[in-house]
Amino acid sequence: MIVGENLSKSYGDLEVLKSVDVTIKKGEIVSITGPSGAGKSTLLQLLGTLDAPLGGSIRYDGVVVSTLNAKKLAHFRNENIGFIFQFHHLLPEFTALENVSMPAFIKGVSKSEAAVRATELLTMLGLGDRVDHKPNELSGGEQQRVAVARALMNKPSVIFADEPSGNLDTENAQDLHNLFLKLRDDFGQTFVIVTHNIELASMADRVIKMKDGEVVSM
Ligand code: ADP
Ligand code: MG
Repeated sequence: MIVGENLSKSYGDLEVLKSVDVTIKKGEIVSITGPSGAGKSTLLQLLGTLDAPLGGSIRYDGVVVSTLNAKKLAHFRNENIGFIFQFHHLLPEFTALENVSMPAFIKGVSKSEAAVRATELLTMLGLGDRVDHKPNELSGGEQQRVAVARALMNKPSVIFADEPSGNLDTENAQDLHNLFLKLRDDFGQTFVIVTHNIELASMADRVIKMKDGEVVSM
């Protein structure tokens, strides 16, 4: 369970989050929606420990992540959190297999051990015959599935996704959304997904609506 309490964030005079409270339960798919500029990405970055709140606290089960030092936080993030962005952010000079292995390398897992799990994940996601392809040799939908495999690599307790299907056509977006549902059903994978996609938002277990830096309903 992830609990954010009283979260605030400002850029200069601009208050982009105003005392936001949010709870994410294990195995839930939660979507965050709202107009552009509402603070959705900011909230996701805070919950995902990529950025620190100005005020408030974030707990993962017993761990108060908002008080961890940079080194401990990087370690915690690597072991517990996966990210998927609108643009896949794969490393262009590495193969799909190497990209997916990257979080395990950072953790100190050997190349051969990482390759076993990366191959399993890519195969599970229908990319078993694409492991040696570089990102520019893959379609948009395939690139995004490689990014999903990479997010899953270290068996994170939660995956944060910011507009994950924002750059995909309708069919690939639907496939990606079905994949999220399947990962939740099969593995109890928790997802927090910022999205403009009405269909993706509506298949979530819960929708958090934001406006002007506040949660207006959840
Ligand atoms: P959303 O994802 O809902 O579109 P964001 O969380 O990205 O909204 O941004 C919320 C507000 O904070 C916006 O007004 C945006 O311009 C501002 N903002 C975001 N990041 C920065 C930054 N690094 N510096 C200054 N302002 C920022
Ligand atoms: Mg955003």
